[in-house]
Amino acid sequence: MNTPITHASDISVLIVGAGPTGLILACDLARRGVDFRIVEKANEYAAGSRGKGMQPRSLEVLDDVGVIDRILVYGQSHTLLRSYDGTTVLGDHDMHQDRHRTADIPYESTLFIPQWRTEVTLRLRLEELGAQVELATELGGWRTQHCAQVIERGVRRRDLERRAAHDRRSSCGRAGPRPLAHVAET
Ligand SMILES: Cc1cc2nc3c(=O)[nH]c(=O)nc-3n(C[C@H](O)[C@H](O)[C@H](O)COP(=O)(O)OP(=O)(O)OC[C@H]3O[C@@H](n4cnc5c(N)ncnc54)[C@H](O)[C@@H]3O)c2cc1C
Repeated sequence: MNTPITHASDISVLIVGAGPTGLILACDLARRGVDFRIVEKANEYAAGSRGKGMQPRSLEVLDDVGVIDRILVYGQSHTLLRSYDGTTVLGDHDMHQDRHRTADIPYESTLFIPQWRTEVTLRLRLEELGAQVELATELGGWRTQHCAQVIERGVRRRDLERRAAHDRRSSCGRAGPRPLAHVAET
């Protein structure tokens, strides 16, 4: 059940955005028993891949939240680069061939893995920890008042059914984010 938030005291932590950063934070808070909500304004999870080169230090963070085995299964390290001279193949070489695992460096190579796969893995971990992302839910704004963060326009779940009906009626009928109605503060 999604409830609007109109004041910071409603929750301990509000995580805005369910990209890799928000998901990692959510996993970390969930395993520590901290009360939070994680909201994502998009109506559905991103299927594309922007971040695909996972750096070694990021892999250590994923190890820490308990998903590294699942990530390593789907990723590729020590990726080969192919060089050309015109159409002639000059050869392949490991872009991280000089890097080696040590006690201080548990992941020596960048891992190539699509961002959507990383996000799916983190969402599964979040579910295991008893929490989940609230899709189609957007933070409208916030401000500071009396040393407290006040959610200015609230977090509102988009009314997907009403919106779909509106889109069907609309001549342009475009899907995509649109501003939320203002939520009065209590
Ligand atoms: C072309 C390109 C290539 C890249 N390649 C790499 C790479 O090779 N390796 C690498 O490590 N990184 C790469 N990056 C960077 C990587 O994609 C980002 O660092 C990563 O996505 C950041 O994660 P994030 O969770 O901080 O933000 P995002 O992934 O942007 O997630 C933020 C989320 O917040 C949501 N949101 C925003 N405002 C609100 C609101 N008001 N209410 C609710 N939800 C909201 C958005 O919908 C979004 O889902 C690349 C980026 C681009 C654009």
